[in-house]
Amino acid sequence: MQYTEFKDGIRLSRLGMGNMRLPVHAELEGQPIDYEKGKAIIDAAMAAGINYYDTAYIYHNGESEVFVGKALAEYPRDSYYVADKFNFQAQPDYRIQFDEQCRRLQMDRIDFYLLHGIQDNFIDEILPSGCIEYFEEMRKQGRIRYLGFSFHGSVSNMKKMLDAHAWDFVQIQLNYYDWEYGNQRMLYKMLEEAGIPVIVMEPVHGGLLSRLNEEAAALLKEKDPSASLASWAMRWVKSLPAVSVVLSGMGDTAMLEDNVRTFSECPDMLPEEKDLVREAAALLRKGVSMPCTGCRYCVPNCPMELDIPALLIAYNDYKNDAAWRLVNLKGWPADKQPSACIACGACTDHCPQSLPVPDAMAEMARQLEKL
Ligand code: SF4
Ligand code: SF4
Repeated sequence: MQYTEFKDGIRLSRLGMGNMRLPVHAELEGQPIDYEKGKAIIDAAMAAGINYYDTAYIYHNGESEVFVGKALAEYPRDSYYVADKFNFQAQPDYRIQFDEQCRRLQMDRIDFYLLHGIQDNFIDEILPSGCIEYFEEMRKQGRIRYLGFSFHGSVSNMKKMLDAHAWDFVQIQLNYYDWEYGNQRMLYKMLEEAGIPVIVMEPVHGGLLSRLNEEAAALLKEKDPSASLASWAMRWVKSLPAVSVVLSGMGDTAMLEDNVRTFSECPDMLPEEKDLVREAAALLRKGVSMPCTGCRYCVPNCPMELDIPALLIAYNDYKNDAAWRLVNLKGWPADKQPSACIACGACTDHCPQSLPVPDAMAEMARQLEKL
């Protein structure tokens, strides 16, 4: 495993384990985490030398924190670092939420603590809320070791965040696709210039970069037939000098093994390989209308309980190929089809990328009527 020096002599594994897409009992109500399968992934991650474990108050409806605490309990407390996040929208009372998180984790210290998913629509509420001062107090008491935030907002609000506090680290979405077509390049440069270590989320863009379209995949496969498409994305992101840890929500051991190989054996990218990846991004761009990462932040906020990310996969297929791609949706229950969308806009409000989901739903509903 490759490691990076963080600060205070702390060495972090460059690959971090995200705990938001753990295996679940899909057949059971509420889809609880499959503890045995999840625990096997954590044990394999520990055996591979991964020492950074990321969770959040809202992941798996609160179950992820309990899972992480239980799965790591048998290991010495100084053999791993836990990252957890304060979700202002889910529970604005930071005292209550922090205590609940420590209880769920069964830990008296959280190593890396973040304000979760800062977006433009609530930055002006969270900054004066008193939470930063409270978490600084928790740090003095030894209950938090390092304080940072994860971010899904605009460049101007990143500046506002950086001006507001001396953060130890910042977590941003970063991958070769968003570098070319989103504002991530700018956000990364701001952090690099400020000398703030970057933790990366969505390095494979929610799986998009491991399912490239035919043209883009062929380009990378021709260069190295043995490398997985995900490994190209991982290598690209870990080659950025300000990047400390790259998080991956590893839902099975095969994904873990592939990532461990990338972070153990693979060198950083050569300039000609970066050119190739840029070319792959351009080819991919042609086929992606709604760059949904599958984060599911929108799902609990949809009054019609639609499986929005699944519907957007269908939408992208339809835009990429043809309307007949939507025909499978006709087999879905009527109240789960795009026509059930009431265009309330709650999904867009909670989407880190502000995707215009209602427009896509309306377009699909119109197309489905014709099929
Ligand atoms: S706009 Fe449609 S998909 Fe979005 S939250 Fe409202 S009902 Fe759900
Ligand atoms: S629509 Fe936005 S919030 Fe919903 S899953 Fe996709 S990226 Fe996440």
